[in-house]
Amino acid sequence: MTSTERSIAAAEAHSAHTYHPLPVVVATAEGAWMTDVEGRRYLDMLAGYSALNFGHGNRRLLDAARAQLERVTLTSRAFHHDRFGDFCTQLAELCGMELVLPMNTGAEAVETAIKTARKWGYKIKGVPDGRARIIVADNNFHGRTTTIVSFSTDAEARADFGPYTPGFDVVPYGDLAALEAAVVDDTVAVLLEPVQGEAGVLVPPPGYLAGVRELTRRRNVLFIADEIQSGLGRTGRTFACEHENVVPDVYVLGKALGGGVVPVSAVVSSRDVLGVFAPGEHGSTFGGNPLACAVALEVIAMLRTGEFQQRATELGDHLHSELGLLVGDGAVDAVRGRGLWAGVDINPSRGTGRAVSEELLTRGVLVKDTHGATIRLAPPLVISKEDLDWGLARLRDVLGA
Ligand SMILES: *Cc1c(COP(=O)(O)O)cnc(C)c1O
Repeated sequence: MTSTERSIAAAEAHSAHTYHPLPVVVATAEGAWMTDVEGRRYLDMLAGYSALNFGHGNRRLLDAARAQLERVTLTSRAFHHDRFGDFCTQLAELCGMELVLPMNTGAEAVETAIKTARKWGYKIKGVPDGRARIIVADNNFHGRTTTIVSFSTDAEARADFGPYTPGFDVVPYGDLAALEAAVVDDTVAVLLEPVQGEAGVLVPPPGYLAGVRELTRRRNVLFIADEIQSGLGRTGRTFACEHENVVPDVYVLGKALGGGVVPVSAVVSSRDVLGVFAPGEHGSTFGGNPLACAVALEVIAMLRTGEFQQRATELGDHLHSELGLLVGDGAVDAVRGRGLWAGVDINPSRGTGRAVSEELLTRGVLVKDTHGATIRLAPPLVISKEDLDWGLARLRDVLGA
């Protein structure tokens, strides 16, 4: 047995089968490259679903983490610590908002946003108790908790996990008229991904996000943007909403906020909205811990320079012009995306997204399929143009283009 086979056999014997990983066992990583247990190198074109926007082993982030590890790592929110105020101030400023509610994982932050919207609905909007409704889009991905899968339209994610949390209305993504028709007096929020990542990097039609902003303002409904995957540089802007000059009422952030080092998530909003909470009404033991704050502060500092957003724009333009050449040649049916982020629909004659991902693996490129026919490309924003071109050449080889 090779060490790859041994590692995979152990994982399969003793882990719950909630994932179907590609057959590669990573041992180390740096920048956009990963090395497996047998010394083979791979170009990472997934970047932990954008959790690794700044690459593997980023020096600035590791130094920030290391320095904080030596000082204090956890206090719980029972006490103040000296990184918390800076973290909240600087994240609020990056978002153009006033208050921050830190959590750990993306799903927790989405749950927090749901609780925020409901409480805002009862305390501020005046919705009768127990009646608050939240509108979401079909094909959404907001996480895996029981409440969140309650409004998933993906049967695999939802089946057998009921009874489901009520209070959600699902409308087609990108359809403003359908959204408008779904708003009722008890609607407290619209929760959307500005670009749907897990669905296959679906970009809504032009004007949609601006239309959602106008509608929600007119009907006194909160616009909650789940920017966990789309935010923090991936699309070429700090937030994907900026592509339509839209500022939502609430940002939900995660993934890249922890720099690929520790899980850090947050809900960021105005005082009018997040001010609804009082002590004891919500919390998290690890949320806002010193290590998380130290890493996230470095992430925020890196984003403030605009350098990563610019790289995502420039490399993204290149990625999309190269991928565009593949459309219609028989191997690729469609390409979507924004910035350094693309969903590529593989023509069924060339195999499934999984088969293409496995072939790319044998050529040293790591990607992930989604929904059968699509592969998703989201390399770290620190990738060099030469490495990106190398990865794209391997993709062309696999597709026979
Ligand atoms: C990944 C993701 C989540 C869930 O984040 P976890 O950290 O895995 O809980 C929620 N929303 C979006 C848009 C995501 O991409």
